[in-house]
Amino acid sequence: MDKGVKILVVEDNFMNKVLVREMLTLNGYEILEAETGEEAVEMVLGKKESPDIILMDINLPVMDGITATKTIKAEEGFEDTYIIAITAAAMKGDEREFIEKGFDGYVAKPIDMKKLIVAIEEGLA
Ligand SMILES: [Mg+2]
Repeated sequence: MDKGVKILVVEDNFMNKVLVREMLTLNGYEILEAETGEEAVEMVLGKKESPDIILMDINLPVMDGITATKTIKAEEGFEDTYIIAITAAAMKGDEREFIEKGFDGYVAKPIDMKKLIVAIEEGLA
């Protein structure tokens, strides 16, 4: 149990958001939420919040998850921000592809909570 660990969940789908929030809260994590890539970038780079891990949906309104991730990591001091891609089932594919795009981890939808927790624990290790 990682008390005091903050996870930013960037997700525009209501049901996915509720599911992830419930599961992570049950596992003792503190949850922050954003619904667009732009909102996530503003939260993180504006230093309004400093999440330990970011879960980034790929298909997001205003700014997609890949652009948001590149924007955050391009900023000085934010290169090591740990960002896990959460990908739609339709884009299931290569984990390597997402690592090459700059992500630190990858979890496919529908989200397997055990896999998500493992990916988060790797990021905290
Ligand atoms: Mg989405």
